[in-house]
Amino acid sequence: MNKIRHLTILGSTGSIGESTLDVVSRHPDLFNVIALTANHSVEKMRTQCHRFKPRFAVMLSADCADQLAQSLKQDHLDTQVLSGVESLEKVAALQEVDIVMAAIVGAAGIRPTFAAAKAGKLVLLANKETLVMAGRIFMDMVKEYGATLLPIDSEHNAIHQSLPHDFDGNMENKGIRRILLTASGGPFRKAPLNTLKHVTPEQACAHPNWDMGRKISVDSATMMNKGLEVIEAHWLFNAAPENIQVVIHPQSVIHSMVEYIDGSVLAQLGNPDMRTPIAHAMGFPERIESGVTSLDMFKVAHLDFEKPDFGRFPCLRLAYLALEAGGNMPAVLNAANEIAVESFLDKKIPFTAIPDMIEHVMLESKQETMQSLGDVLEIDRSARELARDWLCTLS
Ligand code: NAD
Ligand code: MG
Repeated sequence: MNKIRHLTILGSTGSIGESTLDVVSRHPDLFNVIALTANHSVEKMRTQCHRFKPRFAVMLSADCADQLAQSLKQDHLDTQVLSGVESLEKVAALQEVDIVMAAIVGAAGIRPTFAAAKAGKLVLLANKETLVMAGRIFMDMVKEYGATLLPIDSEHNAIHQSLPHDFDGNMENKGIRRILLTASGGPFRKAPLNTLKHVTPEQACAHPNWDMGRKISVDSATMMNKGLEVIEAHWLFNAAPENIQVVIHPQSVIHSMVEYIDGSVLAQLGNPDMRTPIAHAMGFPERIESGVTSLDMFKVAHLDFEKPDFGRFPCLRLAYLALEAGGNMPAVLNAANEIAVESFLDKKIPFTAIPDMIEHVMLESKQETMQSLGDVLEIDRSARELARDWLCTLS
C-alpha cells in the first residue's frame, strides 16, 4: 500500500473495535485513526484517545461525552468530543475518511453504517445486523453511492477469500454450487436438552473458541448468530437460501468454504482470531501482518463436521423462515432477538424462551415490504414493542 489510509472505527471499545486497533497499532505507517466511537465506556475511550490521538471521539450520550471531554482537556489532548447518533453518522461520512469499520453491535449500528455507505466509503462490515435488517436497501445503496463492502465476519471473509477474484454476484456463471457456512455449535452443542432451561448468562457467554461481545456470544449459543449469518451471506453473495449449507465444525479452524461444480471445495483456515479477517480487509488487496499465530496443524490434529439440529437450535430454523418470507421478516427476527437476548442477559427469561419470544413476534407481525431506512427503523421499533409486550405477559 503506498498511501496512508484514514480510518473511522464505529464501536472502537468493543471486541472487534479493540482487535481493529491492535492491527492498526502494528502498522503506524499504513493507518491513521480519524474517529473513534463508543456507547458508554468513557475510561476505555480515554485510553484509546491517548494512544491513537483521533480528531474526533463520539460517545452516544451527552453525559458520557461531557465526562470524556473533561478528562481529555485535563490531559491536554485536542480530540474533539461529540455525542449522539447524528455525530456517529457524521464521523462515518467525513471527507478525509477512507475506511469505516462498522463494529457497533445490533440495530444501533444501522444508521452510521448507512451513512458510511452513502458517503461512498470502503465499509468493513462487522455489524451483520445492518444486512439482516435492511439487506436489499443497503446493498442498493452501496451500489448507488459507489461504496465498497468487505466482510469482517470470519465466515463471510473466508467465503470472500474463497470466491473468484472477479465474482460479480452470479454463482452460476462462476461455476459455484454452494456455500458451506461453518459454525462452532457454541457451548451447548452437546448439552442434554433438558439442562438448557437452566443455563446462565455466564455459561452462554463462555464460547469454546472465540472471545466476543456478550450479544454475539449468546447468539452463538442459540445459533441465531449462524441464522443471521445465513441472511448476511444471502445479501453479500447473492446466494439463494438453498445454496447456503450450515456445517457444524466444532474446532472453528475452517472459517467457511465454497463448493464449485467440478467438485472442488475451497476453504480458508486459520486460528480463530478476528484479527485475521480484520487485517485481510484493512490491507485488501494486499496482505498485512495481523499478529495472529501460525495455525499448528499437528495440534489441531483432526477436523470434525456435523449437521445442525433444528430441534436443538430452533433460532436457526426461525432465521431460515425469516429469510424465505423476505420483506420485513428478517428485521422483525433481528429486533425480537435483540430484546430476547437482552432479557436473557438480564435474567428475565430462561435461555429456552429466546426462540419462543422471537417466534411469537414473527407470528404477530404482518408481512410487509420495506422501501427505505425509515421503514426499517419503524419495523424494528414495532417488533421491539411486541417483544416487550410478550415479556410483560410473563410476569
Ligand atoms: P461488543 O459488545 O464487544 O462491542 C460493541 C461496540 O458497540 C462497543 O464499542 C459499544 O460501545 C458500541 N455500542 C453498543 N451499543 C451502542 C449504541 N447503542 N450506540 C452506539 N454504540 C454502541 O460487540 P462485538 O462483539 O465487538 O460485535 C460488534 C459487531 O461485530 C456485532 O454486530 C457482531 O455481530 C459483529 N461480529 C463480532 C465478532 C466478534 O468476534 N466479536 C465476530 C463477527 C462479527
Ligand atoms: Mg461469524
